[in-house]
Amino acid sequence: MQFVFRRRWLRTALTCLLACAFVRPALAAEPDPITADAPLRWYRGNLHTHSLWSDGNDFPEMIAEWYRTHGYQFLALSDHNVLSAGERWMSWSRIEKRGHPEALKKYLARFGEHWVETRGDRTQDTLEVRLKPLDEFRHLVEERGQFLMIPSEELSDAVDGKPLHINIANVQELIQPLGGATMREAMAADLRAVEEQERQSGKPLLAHLNHPNFYWAVTAEDIAAVINERFVEVYNGHTGVNNDGDEHRAGMEEIWDIANTLRIAELNAAPLMGLATDDSHHYDGAQEQRPGRGWIMVRARHLTPDSLVRAIKAGDFYASTGVTLTDVRYDATSRTVSLEIEPQADAEFTTRFIGTPRNAPLEGKDRTDGAGAALDTTKKYSPEIGRTFAEVKGASATYQLTGEELYIRAIVTSSLAHPDPSLAGQLQQAWTQPVGWSLKTDATPSQ
Ligand SMILES: [Zn+2]
Ligand SMILES: [Zn+2]
Repeated sequence: MQFVFRRRWLRTALTCLLACAFVRPALAAEPDPITADAPLRWYRGNLHTHSLWSDGNDFPEMIAEWYRTHGYQFLALSDHNVLSAGERWMSWSRIEKRGHPEALKKYLARFGEHWVETRGDRTQDTLEVRLKPLDEFRHLVEERGQFLMIPSEELSDAVDGKPLHINIANVQELIQPLGGATMREAMAADLRAVEEQERQSGKPLLAHLNHPNFYWAVTAEDIAAVINERFVEVYNGHTGVNNDGDEHRAGMEEIWDIANTLRIAELNAAPLMGLATDDSHHYDGAQEQRPGRGWIMVRARHLTPDSLVRAIKAGDFYASTGVTLTDVRYDATSRTVSLEIEPQADAEFTTRFIGTPRNAPLEGKDRTDGAGAALDTTKKYSPEIGRTFAEVKGASATYQLTGEELYIRAIVTSSLAHPDPSLAGQLQQAWTQPVGWSLKTDATPSQ
């Protein structure tokens, strides 16, 4: 009996030893080593999103969770003139008015009653929910190399009742809109404030102009003239921002080409780079301003706000509403732009290389409405501005500049429809940045 007991004891001890020996190396190993010299890779993200902190209709963690689980690696919540910081409670009756009656139920179901903070009583109509600040909830949703939150705001300015909205990614402290007598003055003042914060904080900030056609507020000539503005939304997924223009006014693609042409040819200034964003407000699945319509792909080595912002500022990114590029590059020696498109089901791809010839006429004419009255909007220019230089079918496309072009950019259009379009007949697309442009170095300063 004693012998049997000892044998059992011995077997138990041996089993334990073996188990420990098996487990110990796994415990000792670093679970997720930091790559010493990370290679370049593409990161997908959306830089324009709204939450309950301003006029969105969901909690910030829920929105982050949506993007995290839908193939994104970074997200900037950009609420109007507010940073998600400090203590903030919101009444349930106000949240309910945003048309998302399930918001609290879903929030509780996803993150649990030990995370979600409420006070008051629903039956007494005194229920309030705490909106978590970014510096608190980011630790819950972020994962190194996998998902990152970028602090941001949508600086929301106005001139003569027209909106001027500028998103500021990697913002360190809230920047308030400064206004101005004209759209150009306000834009320049707001951008100077961004540059000032960059100097003071030592951090790279990214300012990009949002939806210029929202209320037809910002013209191509305005965008061209404020040369510190280097980034603009060529696609914004909000259905109310006149992305495609209308029968009397220019759409965003046309505005982008006009502004870039005026800059290079007349102002001796660098062209603007184009972004696609969601500008999402609604996460209830029913209302219109939904997430997932437009994003940017950034080629960087590290998934950090500074690394991403620097890559974007260097132009190493493209905008997309569904088309994925595995490579896009410009060889300055051979003056060749080339891109590779990731195959997708039975999609067929058409790449158009768009630019403006050096000898294009630059005079614009006032546009008029149906009754012939002049419109305060981007002027009408020669069709030579933003014309197609070449069209290529297939999964790779190359264009060699002849010297005739002021710049060249590529737009890839898939034969596949956008799964959640904001525009009629919208197909999936990708936009690359203007390349092949140069500025006169001997230009004498204007008097
Ligand atoms: Zn806006
Ligand atoms: Zn917005």
